[in-house]
Amino acid sequence: MAQNIAPQPGIMEISLYQGGASHVAGRTDAIKLSSNENPFGPSDRAREAVIRAAHNLHRYPGTDHAGLRAAIGEVHGLDPERILCGVGSDEIIHMLCQAYAGPETEVLFTEHGFLMYRISAHAAGATPVQVPERERVTDVDALIAAATDRTRLIFVANPNNPTGTMIELAELERLALAVPQAILVIDAAYAEYADGYDGGAELATRLPNVVMTRTFSKIYGLGGLRVGWGYGPREIVDVLNRVRGPFNLSQPALDGAEAAVRDRDHIARCRAENSRMRAWLAESLAEKGVPADPSFANFILARFADEETATACDRRLKNEGVIVRQVGGYGLPHCLRITVGDEASCRRVAHVIGLFMAERAASGQGA
Ligand SMILES: *Cc1c(COP(=O)(O)O)cnc(C)c1O
Repeated sequence: MAQNIAPQPGIMEISLYQGGASHVAGRTDAIKLSSNENPFGPSDRAREAVIRAAHNLHRYPGTDHAGLRAAIGEVHGLDPERILCGVGSDEIIHMLCQAYAGPETEVLFTEHGFLMYRISAHAAGATPVQVPERERVTDVDALIAAATDRTRLIFVANPNNPTGTMIELAELERLALAVPQAILVIDAAYAEYADGYDGGAELATRLPNVVMTRTFSKIYGLGGLRVGWGYGPREIVDVLNRVRGPFNLSQPALDGAEAAVRDRDHIARCRAENSRMRAWLAESLAEKGVPADPSFANFILARFADEETATACDRRLKNEGVIVRQVGGYGLPHCLRITVGDEASCRRVAHVIGLFMAERAASGQGA
């Protein structure tokens, strides 16, 4: 290869993102609890809208996303002019890094934060800075202490993935006020699962350096369609619109998401069922000697005695056709992240973990 052809600095530092596994060799009945997908899928109206849009695939999509932004604005009580739609919230994260970070700047995120923050920071040539958490909870004091005059962006997922924990909005406000030189990005991918939480919308309405990101991939059940959105100060949304590809979202994606956001009953049902089964699963695993922090999302982070136990349990689950997520890449090698599935899936995963723990205890290996 030609010596003089090299990518921009930072690009080769990126480790490729690994999605959750979806197959177990030799099994057709495996259940996938590794990607925090909604087990009930999307609203029927979203499916119908996507199918209708298939009749016009020869047409370019709209560029201003006006219909989807209006629907989101209506449902969430937000100004559509301050909303920006992207190919998943991943693209919003990416656009923020592209527009605001670069060589000689720093992008902060928390110890067990979402891996896309590091990837997007590197892609922009910025320096990713990982900041310690306090017992798997975002530590605002540590973030404030880590910020410098080179800090441009601070990403906080609230609730966080893969820990499931969250902090108060007052704490996020304290962070934004303490670091006015940077944009605080509140990644609220799981906001709908946390009762009475606005995802940081009010903060992003009021403060000049707060952006909220949201997604259709989780409670809306549309991970395959790739739609997310951001909301923040007009000036920031204007900047991001300049780096956004004009046709970043296809018309089926725009129409599907618009129908999905308008179906509030579907979301209410999914939220209620998730709360019920999340509580059941956490309690059931705790009884078997596997604790988890209180989760505000659609997964729980099951903690084992050590990495060896977590890995052995993961192997046992796979053998039984249950796919969960190992989170060593997030600095949590002794944990397994388990998506809250439907009732049958929750019972199956709890049953297998119960067998595994009982066998360990009997063989004297402890937990
Ligand atoms: C799943 C997830 C997202 C959503 O990503 P999309 O690109 O919208 O699918 C964003 N942030 C976190 C923390 C997530 O777990």
